Amino acid sequence: MRQLGILGGMSWESTASYYRLLNQGVRERLGGLHSAPVLLHSVDFAEIAELQRRGDWQTAATLLASAALGLQQAGATALLLATNTMHKVAPALEAALDIPLLHIADAVGLTLQRQGVKRAALLGTRFTMQEDFYRQRLAERFAIEVIIPTPAQMTEIDRVIFAELCQGQFLEPARDFYLECLRELQAQGAEVAILGCTEIGLLLDDLDAPLPLLDSTNVHVAMGLEWMLGSS
Ligand code: GLU
Repeated sequence: MRQLGILGGMSWESTASYYRLLNQGVRERLGGLHSAPVLLHSVDFAEIAELQRRGDWQTAATLLASAALGLQQAGATALLLATNTMHKVAPALEAALDIPLLHIADAVGLTLQRQGVKRAALLGTRFTMQEDFYRQRLAERFAIEVIIPTPAQMTEIDRVIFAELCQGQFLEPARDFYLECLRELQAQGAEVAILGCTEIGLLLDDLDAPLPLLDSTNVHVAMGLEWMLGSS
């Protein structure tokens, strides 16, 4: 198997899911005592979140690029950046690395394309929902039309991510609010909802949702597994 680097801690709640799902995936495919050969660099998310808040993406890019380089030097053959939002600085990481960055929006886009989806709702941080770096990639590379919630809904979705989900709180009022947003997005023609924040899957259950959910964590992990097992 190829060794995979994970740049995580954003937040560690979802990085723990990456670690578990990668190991479960290897066990399912290879059985026995096989487990995932991973190198993890987990950051202090408070520092990164503060840089996001201040709009200092340059410093965030420098920090993450240096961590990514460390993983490469330690023997990682590809990198998973275990957050949707910080893919805003993916070009800086790609410029610093010789190994490939397995881009989370490509994992999402490829899956939607295979499913024949044309219109998808997007839930994530305010950066992921509002800015171009994610939606444009889905539109340009995969011809996916992305629908986003109202500005007021985006403010609350974003607040829940940072104040609750990234702090390990998965509460009923937040679940109800997200489901209400999804009902409205479905009424606007969304065929699928992209959970474009790696913690949202810890809050929402597919069974209760008014439309199919595509969890960015799951498809990103699947991309990492393909790489590790050498079939990509
Ligand atoms: N994990 C989240 C994401 O997938 C949010 C945390 C962050 O801002 O990086 O976007």
